[in-house]
Amino acid sequence: MGTHRTNIDEKIRRLIRPSILAMSAYHVPDASGLIKLDAMENPYGWPDEIKQEWLQCLSGIDINRYPDANASELKKKLRSVFSIPAEQDLLLGNGSDEILQIIALAVARRDAVFIAPEPGFVMYRAIAEIAQAKYIGVCLNKDDFSLNLDAMLEAIEQYQPVLVFLAWPNNPTGNLFDEDAIKQIIVSAPGLVILDEAYHAFAQCSFMSYLGQYDNLVVMRTLSKLGLAGLRVGFLAGANSWLQEFEKLRLPYNIGVLTQKSTEFILDHIDILNRQAQEICQGRQALFEQLNLIAGLRVWPSAANFLLFRSELLSGEEIFEKLKQQGILIKNLQNSHPYLENCLRVTVGSRQENEIFIECLQGIL
Ligand SMILES: *Cc1c(COP(=O)(O)O)cnc(C)c1O
Repeated sequence: MGTHRTNIDEKIRRLIRPSILAMSAYHVPDASGLIKLDAMENPYGWPDEIKQEWLQCLSGIDINRYPDANASELKKKLRSVFSIPAEQDLLLGNGSDEILQIIALAVARRDAVFIAPEPGFVMYRAIAEIAQAKYIGVCLNKDDFSLNLDAMLEAIEQYQPVLVFLAWPNNPTGNLFDEDAIKQIIVSAPGLVILDEAYHAFAQCSFMSYLGQYDNLVVMRTLSKLGLAGLRVGFLAGANSWLQEFEKLRLPYNIGVLTQKSTEFILDHIDILNRQAQEICQGRQALFEQLNLIAGLRVWPSAANFLLFRSELLSGEEIFEKLKQQGILIKNLQNSHPYLENCLRVTVGSRQENEIFIECLQGIL
């Protein structure tokens, strides 16, 4: 027994890829009992009668049967609600993270390079590691986090990336990159460009209408930030010739029957989520103005449902810890990128959550 156990570490080191051994698993902090302003979730629930209707609709499901493998009804509703151009195909993922993984696995090979601007969405690097691709982060401009177009074009020329990720608006900076700069990147890129529109509900601009113009562009969205984070639904829109290849990597039944039916149901009531998104945008404006008034803070404008701010007096770490002690969880960005020194990211919550957050922050500073 003992000898079997002593061998396990050696076996793991021999069998697990070194790049996986070197990774750490995605860490989700424990938020129990805290006001959760760390993960860009929608703070609002559904009206009671809608909830009842939803439960009614779920009660008819045959849970012993596999879900519709093509999720045809759900796709039809997504097309209509999000105005997907009829000539574009749709691919669904268990969250858009799964779509990133599918695309990465489809294109990655020895020496393949993925490029993304930084600071950016952490999953791009993680997915590159999983797919055994080389990841190159290209710094944004330091002051306003706009795209450094020259640096991007140079990196594209030098590395000939098979994938370029562009989050629009960007996470964690919240800004929208210049549209013409994005177009130049798409035209210059030898590989596929994924336009990640996770925050579309709060920015209201999109590259969806350009899909027909560029044969190396796909547009990705998620329902997570709009209010369905618990369901895990993301979608990719693009040419059938790309998506039929990606379909081969999608595991069958990746969208469960509860997710399909629940999403179909709420898409029939999309006005509820849209109204909540509008409210969040108003909250964002109010929160921005209040943060701006606090001495010792710098806050950046945002087109998403979160705000990035820097503490110029206390350390970001100290603010993060003190907020947590007072029951508020936000995101500490210290050590995530050299440009984000003493930076924190706060999700726009309900009006009441925002007020408590501002009060606590004022108290701390
Ligand atoms: C949150 C986020 C996603 C992932 O969302 P899912 O919940 O996996 O659909 C993708 N891209 C960006 C930029 C995000 O911030």
